[in-house]
Amino acid sequence: MVIIMLGAPGTGKGTVAGILQEKMGIKQVSTGDIFRKNIKEGTELGKLADSYISKGNLVPDEVTIQIVKDRLNEPDVEKGIILDGFPRTIVQAEALEKMLAEKGKKVDLVINLVTSEEEIIERLVYRRVCPNCKSIFNVILHPPKQEGICDNCGHELIHRDDDKEETIKDRFQTYLKQTSPLIEYYEKKGVLRTEEVSKKINRMGKEVAEDIVQEYQS
Ligand code: AMP
Repeated sequence: MVIIMLGAPGTGKGTVAGILQEKMGIKQVSTGDIFRKNIKEGTELGKLADSYISKGNLVPDEVTIQIVKDRLNEPDVEKGIILDGFPRTIVQAEALEKMLAEKGKKVDLVINLVTSEEEIIERLVYRRVCPNCKSIFNVILHPPKQEGICDNCGHELIHRDDDKEETIKDRFQTYLKQTSPLIEYYEKKGVLRTEEVSKKINRMGKEVAEDIVQEYQS
């Protein structure tokens, strides 16, 4: 099964993907995590990626597509994959379709998370993530039991550099320009599932993920 997480930064893609991975046994692959790991390790890819990510821009298609292509050849995603943060452009979506077709696969479900820009900014500015187990917290909405420490694995939490307010605005614009056309793209293919997430309606990534798990298990 191939699932794609779509939505602006801060809508909860990682949260949903993490729960689906745990409950459905399908591997979550985040291109953002792959870039961050390379940045931390100081690789050539990391240096290149950082020059785009720090400005709120997308890493070039050819670089990102090659990473996903290599990842799709690994055995742990044979059964299925949840792509968290890929594709982010039409060019990437078309390349993905080709890569999957070569393996006799296709995109089965695209989960499109929608929320207001206001809530996105609030969630990202206060977001803290665990670089070790990828758990996600929010200083206001979902604080860890001990300040700055992951409840799940005890690792120190980080505030991502690109979660600072100036960069968030650029990332949101990038999403509108380059990624949001994918909504129509996947709608036409009949695989789009749009979900509003908002604290106003008491529906966040966790609730969305639980509903999907239940539907697929029954
Ligand atoms: P994320 O963790 O998904 O928010 O990704 C962090 C940053 O990595 C994004 O803001 C982009 O700069 C870059 N990135 C992640 N995935 C992609 C992609 N599919 N295409 C281009 N850039 C990406």
